Amino acid sequence: MALKVTKFGGSSVSSSKQFKKVKQIVEADPDRRYVVVSAPGKRFSSDSKITDLLYLLDAHRQYHVDASNVFKLIRERFLEIKEELGLKTPIEKELDAMAASLNSMSENEIVSRGEYFCARLMAEYLGFPFVDAAEVIRINHDKSIDWDATRARLKAVMNEYPHFVFPGFYGMSANGKIMVFSRGGGDVTGAILANIMEADVYENWTDVSGFLMADPRIVRDPQPITHITYSELRELSYMGASVLHEDAVFPAQENNIPIHILNTNRPQDAGTIIQETSNVPRRYPITGLAGKPGFMSIYIYKKHMSNEIGYMRKVLSVLERYNVSIEHIPSGIDSFTVIVSESEVADSLYEILHEIKRQVDPDEIKVQDHIALISTVGKTMSHQPGTAGRLFDALGREKINIVMIAQDSNEINITVGVNEKDLGRTIEVIYNEFVTKAEEQRAAL
Ligand code: ASP
Repeated sequence: MALKVTKFGGSSVSSSKQFKKVKQIVEADPDRRYVVVSAPGKRFSSDSKITDLLYLLDAHRQYHVDASNVFKLIRERFLEIKEELGLKTPIEKELDAMAASLNSMSENEIVSRGEYFCARLMAEYLGFPFVDAAEVIRINHDKSIDWDATRARLKAVMNEYPHFVFPGFYGMSANGKIMVFSRGGGDVTGAILANIMEADVYENWTDVSGFLMADPRIVRDPQPITHITYSELRELSYMGASVLHEDAVFPAQENNIPIHILNTNRPQDAGTIIQETSNVPRRYPITGLAGKPGFMSIYIYKKHMSNEIGYMRKVLSVLERYNVSIEHIPSGIDSFTVIVSESEVADSLYEILHEIKRQVDPDEIKVQDHIALISTVGKTMSHQPGTAGRLFDALGREKINIVMIAQDSNEINITVGVNEKDLGRTIEVIYNEFVTKAEEQRAAL
């Protein structure tokens, strides 16, 4: 029998209607034995997520503002689910106890209750035992996972129960305090369980059918990505393509557990499978592309720089002192350019430039802002001549000016920098070159 860790995100558990879909999904496959849930999310676009309301509740408490209205909203959401499904779990008492003890609760504890109450109800509804994350997940003070302690606890719980429902997002510190992960951290909980349980697959159910090859706000009806490697995903997520919490990838990757992104509202869709390698033939020469605005380049030129050892290091250490992370460093013989995020240098740009001049006395230093970076990602690009040529040719034909090019030696990503105003068009042109054209050629055969 295979073992699946099955995690449902906030929109999948937002109402009794969504709970019913979850039950159908879990019951459709006996391998779905360990279920992780988020707190109820939005039911419609102007709705509130329970976790947002809990943060708001905490803010009211901190500033001594009456929190009863916010608490009422939270309570009603849970009671509505409970009543509509005819459940018995006595959460009213626990909710009342929470309302009465808000002042002695920490922020972490308050915001963790969304997942807690949701998992309690889901456990009863599925007929599975409830296992509290506070009893199992051990989180260190720097928010890293205490793997040894968590493994020992989880193994014990697995021995006791062949299946259970588990709340995502939180755990406990060594001194007994509830700690939460960063927002969206229910994905991380699922990945931790999948890692320790050595699951055959980590299913992550959400409200989209996996990753798309490009942003649907830019490209009309982009093709879905059915298979992607962890490293391709990392490149695309870094550029803003987000469906899954970034920290959820590493625990799964470490034990080579495939992550399957699926849609609770369209369970028949194939979704996206993320894994180390896959032999499934790729339909296109690229896997996907993503881009984001808000970058800046700092160009530095010094006559005979190439003969001066340590020149680049001195410039980079100035940026390090100002806590600026570096995105790319394309270089010439006597010049190089550092690409950084505008928001990171916004408050200190003039000090940084002054410091660079003082340290290395360049002949020229030039700043260009409003740069967008676009990454075209695909493992099939590596060792495959022609992809870069086609990409630059297509952009050239469309008269898109490229201000920077970067490709590292693993060859799974070509990043180009363009003026921000060209961001959407660049994505469209690259998509059309590699995807639309391929489809047209197929149709013509
Ligand atoms: N409920 C938490 C949040 O909204 C965690 C999660 O949904 O994964 O951020």
